[in-house]
Amino acid sequence: MTKVHAIRTGSVRIKLSQMAGRGRGLARAGHILIDPDWSGWVPIYAWLIEHDEGLILVDTGETARVHERGYHPRWHPFYRRASQFQVTPDDEIGAQLQKIGVRARDIRDVVITHMHTDHAGGLAHVVGSRTWLHPIEWDRAQGFLGQVQGYLPHRWPKWWNPEPLRFEPFAFGPFRERMPLTKRGDVFVVPTPGHTPGHVSVIVQGSPSIFIAGDTSYTENLLKQGIVDGVSPDEDVARQTNQRILALAREQPLVYLPSHDPQSADRLARLATLTP
Ligand SMILES: [Zn+2]
Repeated sequence: MTKVHAIRTGSVRIKLSQMAGRGRGLARAGHILIDPDWSGWVPIYAWLIEHDEGLILVDTGETARVHERGYHPRWHPFYRRASQFQVTPDDEIGAQLQKIGVRARDIRDVVITHMHTDHAGGLAHVVGSRTWLHPIEWDRAQGFLGQVQGYLPHRWPKWWNPEPLRFEPFAFGPFRERMPLTKRGDVFVVPTPGHTPGHVSVIVQGSPSIFIAGDTSYTENLLKQGIVDGVSPDEDVARQTNQRILALAREQPLVYLPSHDPQSADRLARLATLTP
């Protein structure tokens, strides 16, 4: 029986207009920088899938190094004005896995939903695992331009060299392609562009199926309300992905788990499904 664990790697708070975008186009980013209203502290989740073929980790959470002076580029207005973190070394993915009796080196595969620091910050802990990333995300996050777009490529471990996700045609509700992570094909990656163009989610098929969402929305409620976040570069692409997730939930019972939804762990524990 496949089991999914919610692993909390600290907390973050962001502007309310990042959770729920205001305005259209480029104005949305501007709103985030001038917004005086912060969200509450919300969790930064990574997810461990305990499958009989092996252990699969989805995202690696944040690192306590975010508190080091100069860890984030200080010229970047987003880090100066629009995000705050609370992460201790004990919150990091290595220590959190140990707490549930898992050695990081026993993890077979790691899928990174997207390269924002609160999803890729724990990469240094998963030495030796096969790591999967969408090639679009890999390209977009590189170099100075990557930094401008909110990535921290200069903080990635030097040895890190992810495998590019390769999708095959496959129909699962409104989703049309996937990359299986197990031979049985009951755990797979689907493209969910929006929050970033190379964003992916992981589905653990079952009844109910579990949708490990990454940042497709900040909460289940925002998804249901059809509200796109304030950072998706193309709102229409994000909206289309979110409608696809809702359509899937209309077809079959689905537990929806965004990385920063304070209710995600509870929904997972109760297997509470999304009612679109
Ligand atoms: Zn993100």
